[in-house]
Amino acid sequence: MKTRFLAGLALLTTPLAASEPVMFCERPLTAQPIAENTWMVEGLREELSTSNCGHIGNQAFIATPNGTILIDSGSSPHFGEALKTLIAQHSSHPVRWVLNTHHHPDHFFGNAAFDEAEHLTLASTRALMARDREALIDNIERLTGRNLARSHIALPDTIEAGEVTLGSYPLMLYAMSGHSGGDLVIMDHSTDVLFLGDMGFYQRAAATAHSPGLQQWQEELNELRGLNARIAVPGHGPSAPPETVFDQTAHYLAWLDQHLSDVANEGLGANHALAVEIPDAFNTIALTKYEFTRSVVQLYPRYEARLLWGTPQ
Ligand SMILES: [Zn+2]
Repeated sequence: MKTRFLAGLALLTTPLAASEPVMFCERPLTAQPIAENTWMVEGLREELSTSNCGHIGNQAFIATPNGTILIDSGSSPHFGEALKTLIAQHSSHPVRWVLNTHHHPDHFFGNAAFDEAEHLTLASTRALMARDREALIDNIERLTGRNLARSHIALPDTIEAGEVTLGSYPLMLYAMSGHSGGDLVIMDHSTDVLFLGDMGFYQRAAATAHSPGLQQWQEELNELRGLNARIAVPGHGPSAPPETVFDQTAHYLAWLDQHLSDVANEGLGANHALAVEIPDAFNTIALTKYEFTRSVVQLYPRYEARLLWGTPQ
């Protein structure tokens, strides 16, 4: 009884005031409150580089009576340590669960800093993590110029989609695949916050390298529109009303899909696909030119193959 009382009291007590800003890569790392007991940490709207040390993806955390739930952990154990310090400034409960939304390294390489927590993701995501782990570590090390403690990059355990209760805190998990082949989307009905992982990009262009198909991605976004969330946390870019995030991501994906189809239908090569003026509507989005070029290189061969051989994209 006493223990329960103390546990309840602890949640209501503001954690020790932050005396020092938490620094990462010579910048202050900050958490923005987005709902009751819920914060997000926004990554820089940049590509991986030595100057951002890999802090490009978003993280979010929910303080619950039985422990803090962390959604994604950043791109290195070193970042995870800074994130852990930041979380302790906002929540009096240590992180007890880490949910990883997908297998891209900017979303789960920080897990090592949360050794005492359970690390959880979808089975589809875990399989992709196992497949790509070594290549992803090489990629992060090359682009950020930092060595990772390679052996510390472990794979999470698996969790099934559906209603789950972490401690006493209920969440609804959705298994999707439009962005990466294994995408966990998390709905918190207590606060009506929807954590999209990289199913949603906002004010930062969508990365499409591992998408099983741009149309599938759009169909899954349409399914998520039915959830009536109040606020959405994308994998990259600021939080916003869900419709705003869905509209921007879907609009860009629809344009990209149509453009690649049109060029393939004309029998033209990838150079022609690259030589297009990107619509003004997308020019305010960070990294549009960069991601568009990557998308053409990575996806265009599929559009050509589909036209020639009728293979699915
Ligand atoms: Zn990402």
